[in-house]
Amino acid sequence: MDRERRTIEGRIRVARLPGVKSFDTFDFAAIPSLNKMLVLELARCEYVLRREDIIALGNSGTGKTHVALALGLAACQKGFTVAFTTAASLVRQLVEARDERRLLKLQRDLAAVKLLIIDEFGYVPLSPTGAELLFEVFSQRYERGSTIVTSDLPFEDWTFLLGSECRTGALLDRLTHHVSILTMNGDSYRLKQSTGSRSAARAEQDQAADIVDPDTGEITTA
Ligand code: ADP
Ligand code: MG
Repeated sequence: MDRERRTIEGRIRVARLPGVKSFDTFDFAAIPSLNKMLVLELARCEYVLRREDIIALGNSGTGKTHVALALGLAACQKGFTVAFTTAASLVRQLVEARDERRLLKLQRDLAAVKLLIIDEFGYVPLSPTGAELLFEVFSQRYERGSTIVTSDLPFEDWTFLLGSECRTGALLDRLTHHVSILTMNGDSYRLKQSTGSRSAARAEQDQAADIVDPDTGEITTA
């Protein structure tokens, strides 16, 4: 048992999860747009065996990273190799590897991981090279392993991000062939938690202090 625990801990370390989050601490009631049954089913990790993908879409602070981390942890516990990265960091690593002539090795390593989690897709704009390299990662993983992508951009905006309608179409084709989409739109959990904080209280005060004159539209601050 001890040995098994150490193996799992090793896998979690290798996965570079930027924090340990689980579904035990996730409040599903806070995000009604999220299909709880689907998430709990995904937590069993059978999609990893089927090499299927997951896309979590929604505005900031709705728990996308939390869910991705919890799914990553579950996969580690089930014995799968996991790697967690952000889109920006992945692109940086790919560009660096290309410059140092070790791109093939990195691509091979990335393709071998059973579950690759790419957080914050669309958070920073991609260079044409970055988009191309990222696209190659998706292509090389297609039907070989599972990928989780989180993004606060709706699909309509992905073309802009990838810089080519054709490439976006191909990417979405690959990603969405066998995919579970988690819709996570709602109030930011982070903001809700901090409404008691001074900054939030001040923001509320500021709002309350602005008085709009109904005739002139002039704003005065009380
Ligand atoms: P996102 O990645 O969508 O911007 P995060 O996953 O980073 O959001 O969530 C922000 C913070 O709020 C994290 O600390 C996360 O653990 C917490 N959080 C978000 N949603 C929930 C939830 N439904 N239940 C418990 N904690 C949550
Ligand atoms: Mg996040």
